[in-house]
Amino acid sequence: MKILVAIKRVVDFNVKVRVKADKTGVELSNVKMSMNPFDEIAVEEAVRLKEAGKATEIVIVSIGPQAAQETIRTALAMGGDRGILVQTDAEVQPLAVAKVLKAVVEKESPNLIVLGKQAIDDDSNQVGQMLAALLGWPQGTFASKVALEGEGVAVTREVDGGLETINLKLPAVVTTDLRLNEPRYASLPNIMKAKKKTIDTLAPDALGVDVAPRLTTLKVEEPAKRQGGVKVADVAALVDKLKNEAKVIG
Ligand code: AMP
Repeated sequence: MKILVAIKRVVDFNVKVRVKADKTGVELSNVKMSMNPFDEIAVEEAVRLKEAGKATEIVIVSIGPQAAQETIRTALAMGGDRGILVQTDAEVQPLAVAKVLKAVVEKESPNLIVLGKQAIDDDSNQVGQMLAALLGWPQGTFASKVALEGEGVAVTREVDGGLETINLKLPAVVTTDLRLNEPRYASLPNIMKAKKKTIDTLAPDALGVDVAPRLTTLKVEEPAKRQGGVKVADVAALVDKLKNEAKVIG
């Protein structure tokens, strides 16, 4: 049982994101970057499956700049066995990521692919679904529980009305939701060990994938500033404001 985990290097979730003055995107220079939080959950899940004796190898893959090597190292320190960096400085949009991952899957033949449900930079929530479609594999998205059982995997999904459990035949694609697990911090000995693990670097061209963007960003803007609130004296004043100012009740 080989598991492939896809991880993206994104702006750290604690950073207050700033829009560039020319509105073409967000400021990335001198900004702390980290592994996408949902992808940490994906790595953790794969490591737990290996620790439970259900998986034998965990391959970590990332598409991005040279610096994404550091992110792969973090995943290796959490328990991944080896890494693949598909290196490019260009913007790689979800469809191109899915195509690159498909090419990696064809080389590596994993039984299970685990991805985050979405990358917190673009909030696309597309790659897992597109990859499953390109491969013709079953998908279990927004997983809050994953159980490998024989030839299949049972995925409990967070859906609007509650939880839904589906059985997928392997090989399959799973995307992680927030409540699946709590990712571990890599220990110092494991960080040291990870330095010796292999990371292969490939170019998208070598995989025969054209990663040219298909979408153009017209402009990026800060959300409108919210007005401060006011305190009302009593319920009558509140009702009056809802009726006559906000006009949300008749
Ligand atoms: P998205 O559809 O862009 O919101 O991303 C969903 C998931 O796809 C992420 O949580 C990652 O697991 C994976 N992914 C997205 N972009 C990349 C990338 N550049 N490299 C590796 N995995 C990625």
